[in-house]
Amino acid sequence: MPGRAEASSDTKMKITRILAHRVELPLHESNYKWSGGKSVSVFDSTVVRVDTDAGLTGWGEVCPLGPFYLPAYAEGVRSGIMELGPRLLGLDPRELGVLNARMDACLKGHPHVKSGIDMACWDILGKASGLPVCTLMGGRHGDAVRLYRAISQEEPDAMARRVAQYRAEGYSRFQLKVGGDPDVDIERIRAVRSVLRSTDRLVADANTGWTQHEAVRVARAVRDLDLYIEQPCLTYEECLAVRRACGMPFILDENIDGLDVLLRARADLAMDAVNLKISKLGGLTRTRQIRDLCASMGLAMTLEDSWGGDIVTAAIAHLAHSTPESLRFTSTDFNSYVTVSIATGAPRREEGFMRASGDPGLGVEPRLEVLGPAVVTVG
Ligand code: MG
Repeated sequence: MPGRAEASSDTKMKITRILAHRVELPLHESNYKWSGGKSVSVFDSTVVRVDTDAGLTGWGEVCPLGPFYLPAYAEGVRSGIMELGPRLLGLDPRELGVLNARMDACLKGHPHVKSGIDMACWDILGKASGLPVCTLMGGRHGDAVRLYRAISQEEPDAMARRVAQYRAEGYSRFQLKVGGDPDVDIERIRAVRSVLRSTDRLVADANTGWTQHEAVRVARAVRDLDLYIEQPCLTYEECLAVRRACGMPFILDENIDGLDVLLRARADLAMDAVNLKISKLGGLTRTRQIRDLCASMGLAMTLEDSWGGDIVTAAIAHLAHSTPESLRFTSTDFNSYVTVSIATGAPRREEGFMRASGDPGLGVEPRLEVLGPAVVTVG
């Protein structure tokens, strides 16, 4: 038929090999502490490499926040890839729906195992099509993505000094790690808010660390301040009770690990914004589905991951940059928290903002000498 493009031949690309590298990511600030005395000094990150018969290679990264934050741990990512990887050989990495259906059919749950593989396959799709992941995810909204800085739990004055320091570096969004002793947490919040300007945004993230009555008490003690409360308690029901009692802007994170609970929380008006983490949800494919649903519902999002280095930061940038600006609450640049660079091409913070790469795929080139030999090889 005239004017109709010739259908291109449907040439399959096949996954031939999946590898995992283990990298240690020490912190500039010696350690990172949050609720309940939990802390990490060196992050254990897994870099996932997917090879194809077309000569294209994709890269992903998964870095749990230690073994006690979400139901995930670093060695579990690698052993999960040994379990799941053989079932994925021969699949076309560009067919992300088919890939995710196979992963879900072969391994129940374990979203953090699937995340790095899915991320690497998005990288391949981008390289195969010559487009950045952010274009494939809907296109670039605005010029840059505004960042927040997570402030490790310390004494109130020390946290206020950190916030002032990071503010001077260009950040205007801050997430305080609270969820400790409620009286000290009230001091932490007050000390930090006092060094910020009215245009700066402050989140008190308890990371499930308060009991219900503690959370209500802290929230009431600081409700004269411009402040968001994030994930105060362990269960969804406790958080909902706190939300209804405090009347402050509210974010849910740890409880929102899939569509069912997201829709329930939306129906209950349990939150004003939601924290979406790529590995918590099982990769960029699943996170994009939830991101698009949140965008359709007008729900603002923090778009990030549990932790990571350059590759996770690149993935966050593509996810966030392809999200409508009015619904981007915050994101963060994890590669600036750690002392080791695992890839070139990742976003670098400029005055509190970052941009997704314009290069095909994720736009990163791993530093092979930093990754060292693979610790898992499938295929
Ligand atoms: Mg959080």
